[in-house]
Formats: sequence, C-alpha cells, structure tokens
Amino acid sequence: MARLIPARAVAVLLYHGVCDRAPIPKHINFHVSQNVFERQMRALKRRYRIASLADVVASLVRGERLQKSVVLTFDDGYRNNLLVVAPLLNALRLPFTVFVATACVETGRWMPLNEIYWRWSEGMLREEEMTELRRQIRERPSSDLPQILSALRDLSSKPSKSVEDSFAMLNWGEVRQMARDGVEFGSHTHSHCNMAIESDEKQIDELRVSKYLLEKNLGHQVNLFAYPYGKLSEATRRNLLQTRYTCALSSENGLVTQGADRLRLPRLGNDRTMWMFTGEILFQFAKQAARDAWSGLFGRASENVPATETEEHHG
Ligand SMILES: [Zn+2]
Repeated sequence: MARLIPARAVAVLLYHGVCDRAPIPKHINFHVSQNVFERQMRALKRRYRIASLADVVASLVRGERLQKSVVLTFDDGYRNNLLVVAPLLNALRLPFTVFVATACVETGRWMPLNEIYWRWSEGMLREEEMTELRRQIRERPSSDLPQILSALRDLSSKPSKSVEDSFAMLNWGEVRQMARDGVEFGSHTHSHCNMAIESDEKQIDELRVSKYLLEKNLGHQVNLFAYPYGKLSEATRRNLLQTRYTCALSSENGLVTQGADRLRLPRLGNDRTMWMFTGEILFQFAKQAARDAWSGLFGRASENVPATETEEHHG
C-alpha cells in the first residue's frame, strides 16, 4: 500500500542518536535503540524511495514536481552516528544528512542538555533540578549558559560507557571521514542556541561561524540548516537568507510538499512503536495523495501550493 499511494511529497525524518540504554528521561528520550532503528530502516527501504536532502532541496529550488520519498536526518552530530548509523545505512545504501553544532565538534564538549541528563542519570541531580536546568538551557540566551552550567561544576566524575555511547560528539576527522563516505552535513548553529530568542548579531554570528567551520573542513559549500529545538523567528529567516542558506528544517510535524517554504521545512519524528512509525508515514502520504487528487480533479491548489505553480502543474 505504501508503494502504491501516489503522493507528491517528501517525509523528512528527524533522528538524533542511535544507541541502547540512553540515559535520558523516558518522556524526552530522543535516541532510538539499535534494534528499533535497524527495523525502521529496513521497513523504509522496502516501502519507499530514500532521497538525499540536497536532491529534494534542488527539486524545490527548480520548482520540479516532488517524487514521493523519505529523507533521513540526524540532529546534533553524535559519534554514534558514525559508529552505529553509518555502517547500517551505508550497507543498505541509504543517504542521510547530519546537522552538527560546530562548537561541540571543535572542542569535544557535549551538548549542554546532555551534561544535565548525564548527571541526572547518575543520581547527581534530582528530577526537579534536572527539569529546571533543562528549561533554562532551552529558554535562555546562550550568553547565560556558563552561569546555568556552573551548577554542574562541582559534579565532576567520569561518564560511564553507556553515557559516553549516548552523548559523545563527532570530531572533525570523523566528520570528514563520513563526508568521504557520502554523508551530507548541515549546520545546527555553532553553540546549539535557541535562535528565536537570540539577537540578530548573535544569530548571524552562529550562522556564519558554523558555515565557515563546516566549509573549511569539508572543502565544499554548506547551505543546509536545522533549527536547534526547532525554534525560529522572522528575524532568523532573514538572517539565514543573508548568510546564504538555501534550506532550513524545523521540527514542525508534516510532509514537505510542492511550493513548501524552504526556510521552514517540516519533519516527522520517530519516537514511536514500529507500527506507529510506519503507520504515521503511510497516513501522511495518504492524506497528501488525497489532497493532490482533490486539486487535480477540481483544479484547486492543495495546501502550501502557490497559485502560479498549481497552474503550471495542473492547468
Ligand atoms: Zn539539536
């Protein structure tokens, strides 16, 4: 059924890390276990065309008709993307894109939220303390970060293996190695800040620095971007254009359709049981196919399709 649905849309899937026993609170877990991930990938490969994000963006830029496909994206830049994700996806010949927060790549530091989860998982922070620190990291400007994290300074200890497997980040050598194997990279800002609340100056700095570091290390242009926490403002869009990004992914739920706003492309999550995972993608494509059929029959624009493009495609 998945193969037969004639939707002209792309499901961009949002992942973070893949590892077993991630020490993250259950209700906010953003890592997938290896077994679940492998089953998801094999199921997708059987059912759909898996496209690279760059190809989909190129089609959007050229105003071409989208082919029904699935795109795989991974936010933050975890080392488990190299150790666990890459071997499986390379063996299955499935393209994927990793969005890195370049400050972590450069310094070997971890994402601020993961510093919190690590301490919480080892009983060094109480649940309420972890929840409060998490809220502050997500909602306050990055200039407040040293002060927020100063609460952790006294809690130094060596991370366990499962903490390391879960939270360690890629370094530049690893990024280059993955790129040589065909993995696509994009910016996820430099410091993983919430772009919706930062000043224009700070936003432009984040966009420029991460782009510069990626381009210097990869040796080619980088113009893909994903918003940390999925957060953006109108200013962020302007700043992305000014710093020459061609596409930005949010974490809003939905499919990428013809004429979609390239600076706010929606994605689908993955934190579901297997039947929910495949069912959700199927449901989204079926809904879009119905919209396409409706606009084909009645010559009306389906959602997100500007009138000019609709005429071109259906007129
Ligand atoms: Zn992120």
